[in-house]
Formats: sequence, structure tokens, C-alpha cells
Amino acid sequence: MKVLKNIKIIFPDKIEKGSIIFSDRIEKIIIKEKDVCQEKGSSLDIIDGGGYYLSPGFIDIHFHGVAGFDTMDASQEALLHIRESLPESGVTSFLPTTISMPIEDLIRSLEAIRIAMRKERTGSTGARILGCHLEGPFINKKYKGAHAEENIILPDLELIKNFIDIIKIVTLAPEIEGAEELISFLRAKGIICSAGHSGATYEEMLKALRSGISHITHLFNAMPGLHHRDPGIIGTALTTDISIELIADLIHIHPAVLQLVLQAKDLNQIILVTDQMRAGTLEDGEYEFGGQPVIVKEGIARLADGSLAGSRLTLDQAVRNISRISSLPLYKIINMVTYNPARLLGLDDELGWIRAGNRADFVLLDKGLKVKSVFKDGLRIY
Ligand SMILES: [Zn+2]
Repeated sequence: MKVLKNIKIIFPDKIEKGSIIFSDRIEKIIIKEKDVCQEKGSSLDIIDGGGYYLSPGFIDIHFHGVAGFDTMDASQEALLHIRESLPESGVTSFLPTTISMPIEDLIRSLEAIRIAMRKERTGSTGARILGCHLEGPFINKKYKGAHAEENIILPDLELIKNFIDIIKIVTLAPEIEGAEELISFLRAKGIICSAGHSGATYEEMLKALRSGISHITHLFNAMPGLHHRDPGIIGTALTTDISIELIADLIHIHPAVLQLVLQAKDLNQIILVTDQMRAGTLEDGEYEFGGQPVIVKEGIARLADGSLAGSRLTLDQAVRNISRISSLPLYKIINMVTYNPARLLGLDDELGWIRAGNRADFVLLDKGLKVKSVFKDGLRIY
């Protein structure tokens, strides 16, 4: 058993100084420092947390790639590099996310994710794969964003049926033909249906909410803007309790619009995501995303037609960005990358918050919110 002492523990509703006793799980949380000394007799391995913040491990539910590798590479090598790269940004769990590609490519990627999940053991040093986020290919061609039009198709239940064990979220356009049947199939299997790359009207969204849409993929991006006579997806997001993703790189959404959302939306329903693509952590240059060439210039990834093509955002940077543009208490921002995604995925009984019995996934952050150290299942992985 180990003890992390001299830390400021970030809970979902407060921050308190204290210590944590843990193995691969959190065993005990001690708020008064002196109690730790009394436990000393029991051969505890004591780690000094240096007065840093202790956050739960970050969870990224919309992430394509990093360090030159992408989920669509469909190889164990790519997934391994991705998993090993993520802890430096505080991420301990994630959903590798696909993009619209020919069905054979999607199948290969999903099979690779399944193999990687089966091979994963406690004690591995990379971030944990929680399943897959299938982004497309059942989306609206008009709001394709970085998805190649020729790969966008109408709902195909056969593709999904073989992977219900690993698919956690499907981003789809609720207004397309066959979407309603797809949504009811996915809901029956416990898979989260997320509206995205969509031009759904407000009325279509209300109907989709009743059918089982419960989340919105990268709100504002790849959808019509907010119009006062045509509120659409954004109007639905701001007037219902549906959960939303935000890409808080300050490029995909203007800081003023982020501030608007932070004021208008229940903060418990906001999830920060990166939408990071393979150029993440690398230099400007030419890359590939979803089978299309991408140019990364001054940190911004675009297709030749100028469409934004994923991001180079890391989740720790998203936290720092929100902290900089808002005056929210830190625990409310940390919830957006820990507790809120864990609740969406139905995994908050073991992940996403500091509680006895939960997995010992931690991130130590300094006062500038830079990642100093990361633990997964109680092992230091960064
Ligand atoms: Zn994406």
C-alpha cells in the first residue's frame, strides 16, 4: 500500500488538503495530515505530493490520434504508441475515435481496438482503452467537416452489430434516413447516441431526444450556427439537459462563445474533448486524417478546403484554457474531464472521481495546472 500525502485533493464539489492511501484502488482518503503518521506502522510507501493538486485521471471521449499515430491505422503498434503518449497530458482512460472511412477500414480499426482491449492488463503503462467512439459514417454530408464525403453512408446495422461489445458512443446525424431505427437499436444495446456532423432542426432534435439521443458531439463544430428563428442543435443544447462536448482549444470555438456556454449550460453536462489527430505533440507539417491530406500550420490542422481537421489540443491544455477564460472553481473544470465523462459512460462507480473503492487513477497538477505526475491503477505511469 502507498500513501500520497501533502496534496490538495480535487473532489467533484470541493478541494481539500489531505492524503490518500491506495493500492490499485483508493483505499482511504484522509483529510487531516496528522492521521497519516498514525497509519505509518503498517509499512506504507509514502510519496510526498509536493503540495500539488490531485485530480482524478482525465478521460478523453473524443480522440483520434497523437504522436504520428491514428486510431484508423488499425494496428496494435499505433494503439500502443497512442496509449503510451496520452499520460503526459493527464489522460488515463480514453475512447479511440474513428472517422468515416470505407467499411473495411472501419472494421479493421474496430478489430484492432478489440484486440488491444483484450490484451490490456493491470500494470500496463499506457492509458486505458474504455471502448470506441464511432464518429460517422452515418452523418449528414452537408456537415461533413473533415470526413470525406464518399465515405459517408446511410445507417448500416450490420457494421454495428459485430462490435456492440466495444462501441460506447456513436456520432450520427439524427435527421438522415434510417437514423431513428439506428438510434433505437443502439439505445437497446446501451450505446450512447450522439448528434453530430448534423443539420438537425430544433424540432428534429426534440424528436431525437425522445428516441434516445443523449449527447452532442463537439457542439458548434460541423453543425449550423445558432439562429434566433432556427435554434437547431445549439438551441437544443442550451435549453435541455443533454450532455455536450466542447473542443476548448480556443480555435474551434471563440472564447466568448465558450464563456456563453459556461454561463448558460449546466456545468455537470459539459465534457471537454480534444478531437486530437495524429499531429498532436508533433510539429507543423503535412499529415493525413480520414484518408485526406491535412496541413498543420501554426498548430491548426486543416484540409485543403480550409475545414478544420481535428486538433492538436491536449486535455490538460483544454483545462488550462477554460481556467484562463473563466472564473469557475477549479473542481468544476476538472469535472469536465473526469466526473462528467465517467457519468456519461456509466463508469462513475469506478472512475472519474476521488472516492474510496474507485480505481487509483490520479494526476498531480501544479498551480499552473501543468501535469507533474500520473498514476493508473495505483502505478506511476508518468
Ligand atoms: Zn473527431
